[in-house]
Amino acid sequence: SRVPQTANDLLARRYATIGPHSPLFYRQPLELVSGSGVWLTDAQGKVYLDGYNNVPHVGHANPAVADAIYQQLLTVNLHTRYLNSRVVEYAEALLSKFDGALERLFLTNSGSEANELALRIARQHTGNTGVLVSDFSYHGNTTSLAEITTGLTVHEPLGAHVRALRIPDVSGIAEVDVPVLLEQSLADVDAAIASLQAAGHGVSVFLFDPLFSTEGLLQLPSGYIEGVATRVRAAGGLVISDEVQSGFGRTGSGMWGYQMFNVEPELVTMGKPMGNGHPIGAVVTTAELLDEFGRHNMFFNTFAGNPVSSAAGLAVLRYMDQEDLMAKADQLGKYIRKRLENIAQRSGNVGSVRGRGLFFGIDIIESDGSRNPAPALTKILIEDMRERGVLISRVGPHDNVLKMRPPLVFGREHADILLGQLELSLASLPQPGNLVL
Ligand code: PMP
Repeated sequence: SRVPQTANDLLARRYATIGPHSPLFYRQPLELVSGSGVWLTDAQGKVYLDGYNNVPHVGHANPAVADAIYQQLLTVNLHTRYLNSRVVEYAEALLSKFDGALERLFLTNSGSEANELALRIARQHTGNTGVLVSDFSYHGNTTSLAEITTGLTVHEPLGAHVRALRIPDVSGIAEVDVPVLLEQSLADVDAAIASLQAAGHGVSVFLFDPLFSTEGLLQLPSGYIEGVATRVRAAGGLVISDEVQSGFGRTGSGMWGYQMFNVEPELVTMGKPMGNGHPIGAVVTTAELLDEFGRHNMFFNTFAGNPVSSAAGLAVLRYMDQEDLMAKADQLGKYIRKRLENIAQRSGNVGSVRGRGLFFGIDIIESDGSRNPAPALTKILIEDMRERGVLISRVGPHDNVLKMRPPLVFGREHADILLGQLELSLASLPQPGNLVL
């Protein structure tokens, strides 16, 4: 029998097998051994409130999802070249969450695979290869997606067919003249399109995450996304909404993040929360695009859309509907936002409040009057919150936006714990301008 391993042994064994480059959170990595709802327990028995993980959408170890997976596994699991009712049931249930022309789907195993396929479908339809993305974005880890990624601390050079747009942000630090900013930002889009056309790439897609999560939860001037979509379509391109982070009711105001804007994308991609941790993703699109792609490509996928994955996806949608989680995210998100705005007014270290629904953030700044981003303080806060039993993280090009994105089963009592501990943590920062409690 094996000698029990200590946390340090586990870390050494991980480095010796997976290597030291695969990122881990926290100065002292956290070993989590079990979860339930919004709670997680570490190897020493300490319990944490999960304010970070969006994959366990309907809660860690949700019994309804576990049971659906188990029962289907005990019945049959197949690839999709046989007819089975479970996958069709799931396709119907998921598509019932869309309006308009979005009435077909491809199932995938991950968000990366969904974005890769969406790029391929767009390329097939438009005959163009040019891609517009936002600067400091992340959409996945395949070769085509690595070529469009700037939102990681280390990344490959941008592909020659890619233009990264600086997205206008009005949540920000400086006073901004919104109409001027909007006009300048749309002029940048015109220039990027002209440059793709001049280089012979043309415009295939504008790919965006409606919450601009990796970018630091930007708040856009109204009309920007609509302006980009109009320009991209005029150039013969399509719009892909990447709902990996913003989908499944996360914003509270709609099932999909793009519903915050007056634009219906031709392609919608999703993953993360879709199977509550079971790997499943999708591309939702129009009948025309699906048929056109199918005429030119024979596309099939061994694991994607198997009955077990479909059972997991169905259980998530049913649980969301039964518990009315989207409406709850809307109400709770508004309450959290109000309290964060109050904290921002009282703390010299908070620049602005960001996000929507149950994805919220504050940007941490120096309290010396400079309003400079304060990544070192942000790190201190995240470590301190861990000590206080609350898990959160950070995003943005300056790594100074606290990222709070709990499972959607988060309740008011959990929000009060998170916000109470955040106030205490801000008040304990080693700088003047502390929060006055
Ligand atoms: N798009 C967005 C917006 C994401 O945040 C991520 C993952 N962080 C992906 C795509 C890639 O998804 P996956 O890791 O499932 O491949």
